[in-house]
Amino acid sequence: MTIKNKLRAGFGFLFLIAFLCCSLSIFFLNNLSSDASEILKDNYESLKYAKNITSALDESQAGLSQYQISTIENNLRKQEKNVTEPGEQQLTNKLRLEFEHLKVLKTIQIDAELELRSQIRNVLYNIMQLNMNSIEKRNNNAQNTAHRATIIVALIGSFCFLVAFTFVINFPGYIANPIKELTGRIKEISNRNYHQHLNFKTNDEFGELAIAFNLMTGKLNEFEHGNLANILFEKKRIETIINSMHDAIIGFDEKYTIIFANDVACRLLSTNEERLTGKHAHDVAMENDLLRNLLINDHLKMKINTDNREDYYSKEIVPVISNDKVIGKVIILKNITEYQQLDEAKTNFIATISHELKTPISSIKMSLKLLQDARVGAVNSEQKQLIDNIDEDARRLLHITAELLDMAQAETGKIRLNFGSTHPKNIVDYAVKALKFIADQQEITLNIKCDNNLPYVRADLDKTTWVLINLLSNAIKYSRPNTTVDLFVKQNKLDGIEFIVQDHGQGIEDKYLSRIFERYFKVPGASVEQTGTGLGLAIAKDFIEAQSGKIGVSSEIGVGSRFYFILPVS
Ligand code: ADP
Repeated sequence: MTIKNKLRAGFGFLFLIAFLCCSLSIFFLNNLSSDASEILKDNYESLKYAKNITSALDESQAGLSQYQISTIENNLRKQEKNVTEPGEQQLTNKLRLEFEHLKVLKTIQIDAELELRSQIRNVLYNIMQLNMNSIEKRNNNAQNTAHRATIIVALIGSFCFLVAFTFVINFPGYIANPIKELTGRIKEISNRNYHQHLNFKTNDEFGELAIAFNLMTGKLNEFEHGNLANILFEKKRIETIINSMHDAIIGFDEKYTIIFANDVACRLLSTNEERLTGKHAHDVAMENDLLRNLLINDHLKMKINTDNREDYYSKEIVPVISNDKVIGKVIILKNITEYQQLDEAKTNFIATISHELKTPISSIKMSLKLLQDARVGAVNSEQKQLIDNIDEDARRLLHITAELLDMAQAETGKIRLNFGSTHPKNIVDYAVKALKFIADQQEITLNIKCDNNLPYVRADLDKTTWVLINLLSNAIKYSRPNTTVDLFVKQNKLDGIEFIVQDHGQGIEDKYLSRIFERYFKVPGASVEQTGTGLGLAIAKDFIEAQSGKIGVSSEIGVGSRFYFILPVS
């Protein structure tokens, strides 16, 4: 039976018993009251009539007055209508008969009258006795009824009390105990203990609940074990993949606790995984120079000594993002020794070639100078044009070889800096002088703002001028005629002296800005006449950074580009 129906039956039963009790009480009360009213109605009335007749009879000893007769007649008539007891009818008839005799007796018949009066009193006494007996009997009956009613109502009341008491004691437990047990099991489940079973064998809602609950815990158990096995398998697989990689990989959580380090990383850090995992990176870094370097230095390329060998590694820090939140970091060290060696070979090759080319190109230039000199011999206009073209090509070749040499120098870390204390105005003047002619040719106005009161900078004058010339010549190259190129020099409170070259040319798309200082990078789509080797900005960056300076760019398509570099104050 369902709990709902059990509740209905329980409360219904209680109501039924209460109703039965009430009905019985009302029934017995009715019985008692009818007994009492019958006593009143039948016997008490007869006693009253008999008493009235006796009193009327006793008012005179001889003869009856009219008043007496009418009183007796009146009460006798009422008595005749109120005959209730067996034998009462005969006595009433006798009373009527003797009263009629008494009415017709002559006053002189005194003895007969006395006799008759005595007989009437006798009859009245008998009537009263009969009714008195009946009252006594009925009174006894009423007492018996009351006694019986008390016992029955008491019995039923006790029974009701017992039932209600049992109900009150047991019912809350009946509802609360399963709920309590269920709560306990749910708490266990929240602690990931899925081996929970409810044993409600009842055929009601609790029984159904137990079946559903047991089914759910079974599924959860299955899911947990299936999932756990899968997760463990996947973890093993990922660990194997990470371990079999040739790159060193170290994983950290968001609090910089080391989560894993593969075999290569352990070998580089000269330790084992047990001494790394679970430890805070900064604690390990206190004793491990390489890890300290990895965490502190921004360098993306580093030299690491392992097995008495010097290897080059590139460092990449990959943030681990989940739900737009950084939940950790992975440091990947890629062994780039092979590429580094190839790169060095390439740089050496470029350096040798450009160095070797410089001498023949210079002698070509010298020869061209001689050819252009009228004293050597006259040339016709076509020959002159050819000589000018060769001269221009030679100039470009010389420029390219010079850039390649600079780049090779920078790449091998062989930039020779000649530091000195220079006023920014000097650098500006040299650069402007070198470019004035080209700017005029392209109808570009140079707008220069450089305060004489600026402090001196600590810089290599030649290299810094080279950088400024490069930025200005780019600005002129990528500007439309009849526009201005601004060159501002100002003191930057935090970093030093800032040189800004602002053009109003085509601008550079955002996506290329981060690559603009890479070697050989040229913005796609630029015309062949405009672009050069793509080395100028890369060399400029090397030169400025070698002087502990900063270089950067911002640009907007159609509005222009703004290149700047900052050098420390002397
Ligand atoms: P290049 O010798 O090709 O000018 P750079 O390293 O000086 O080499 O410049 C790299 C590339 O950056 C150029 O090819 C050009 O596309 C772009 N660039 C440099 N300066 C500017 C500028 N002021 N406006 C637009 N593009 C520029």
